Amino acid sequence: MTATPYRPQGNRHHVVVIGAGLGGIKAVQKLKNENVDVTLIDRTNHHLFQPLLYQVATGILSTGEVAPSTRQILRGQDNASFFQGDVTDINLESRTVSAEFEGATRVFEYDSLVVAAGAGQSYFGNDHFAKFAPGMKTLDDALELRSRFLGAFEKAAMTDDAEERKRLLTFVIVGAGPTGVELAGQVAELAKRTLDNEFTTINPAEATIYLLDGAPQVLPPFGKRLGKKAQRVLEKAGVDVRLNAMVTNVDEDAVTYKDMKTEEETTLVAETKIWSAGVSASPLGKMVADQAGVEVDRAGRVSVNADLTVGEYTNVYVIGDMINLNKLPGVAQVAMQGGTHVGKLIAAKLDEESTANEREPFDYFDKGSMAIVSRFNAVVKMGKKVELSGFIGWAAWLFIHVLYLVTNRNRFITLLNWGLNVVSADRGNLAFTRNQRHARNAIED
Ligand SMILES: Cc1cc2nc3c(=O)[nH]c(=O)nc-3n(C[C@H](O)[C@H](O)[C@H](O)COP(=O)(O)OP(=O)(O)OC[C@H]3O[C@@H](n4cnc5c(N)ncnc54)[C@H](O)[C@@H]3O)c2cc1C
Repeated sequence: MTATPYRPQGNRHHVVVIGAGLGGIKAVQKLKNENVDVTLIDRTNHHLFQPLLYQVATGILSTGEVAPSTRQILRGQDNASFFQGDVTDINLESRTVSAEFEGATRVFEYDSLVVAAGAGQSYFGNDHFAKFAPGMKTLDDALELRSRFLGAFEKAAMTDDAEERKRLLTFVIVGAGPTGVELAGQVAELAKRTLDNEFTTINPAEATIYLLDGAPQVLPPFGKRLGKKAQRVLEKAGVDVRLNAMVTNVDEDAVTYKDMKTEEETTLVAETKIWSAGVSASPLGKMVADQAGVEVDRAGRVSVNADLTVGEYTNVYVIGDMINLNKLPGVAQVAMQGGTHVGKLIAAKLDEESTANEREPFDYFDKGSMAIVSRFNAVVKMGKKVELSGFIGWAAWLFIHVLYLVTNRNRFITLLNWGLNVVSADRGNLAFTRNQRHARNAIED
């Protein structure tokens, strides 16, 4: 017998939102006071603020600060309910979504659908690199990276073989976009400041941190001037930045890259490798695009209409990192503003038949990009004219990131932690477990 698809009792318009990330949660919140029922489905039980993941990976923040419980966020919203499940199927004809949680499956029927499932790491066809060089997209990733960073120092302390110690104290980060830059800066600070004087058999400050990128500069979207500044700050902090460096192989022991100018190949022997070089939209994008008869680009992003609907389906919206529209970047503001936009459209068009062209287009307002480079030092680019760096950039970064956290509790605790981090070299979240270190490979094996 086929189970009846879920829809809330009563006969209100039912909006299903897939993904409780930055875009999905905004869409749900925008519908708070509307005459609709909202069902939010996410494979995790939390709303993750990815821009601060690197601070979890490097022991500054705890998981709760960057990932509050989705149920708690929605507690005050009577028209919304949440299900934890992995969406495995979307059927645009029958207007249903199937989700699964540890063997239990459920089908949901919708009137409007918002697909906000974000993006994963892309290894540009070299998926076998993932085992040796994990990316950083989820809480699991960040905790695993924390355990890999700190575990490498612990292992190094246990060996008296100088070559092995060097291998263990070498960290290679691939990709010099904001995530790679932020991670490299923080790993350097962890090694040279936080762990200073904590070991008797090794000197953590002797760790070597490489940051590699195939591009000729770090932080390409920030422009040459800020890219150069960021590179100088990183180098001063002890990071070895290698540009025009195209990675050709990653295995258990090393990362190999080719210098794009000289064609010379170099192999960096390292225990800890991290991949932050590319993204690929959720496969749910292609599932929707195929049914709607629209294209996905090489990164799996869906060609959406100007109002963020898909093809002829005026009740199906795709937002955030999954969209290919006017070259919009995969950044937090595109997702958040997209969520607000579709929430508004759904509320406004409830009683109206209209085509995508007759609806209000998504009008993205670019509030700028920012990245922390090291302690008290960030780069900020707003429009074509405003470029900030150094301490002023850092203060702007701090203000904006606190503002974007989703609850006041998170804002307060995060600020407190940052304050403590400013006055002391200690970090409050350096615990790691064996499970965090080994679970990925154990599960895959
Ligand atoms: C490490 C890192 C640092 C970043 N730093 C910055 C920054 O400094 N500034 C900036 O502007 N942007 C930054 N970004 C980008 C920004 O976080 C994203 O653009 C934004 O989160 C995209 O929002 P989204 O709603 O599209 O997807 P996400 O926020 O990724 O949310 C997607 C949600 O969908 C869920 N999901 C995925 N697949 C399924 C499925 N099949 N079933 C159910 N649920 C599913 C996921 O669990 C997740 O909760 C960063 C990203 C990363 C990874």
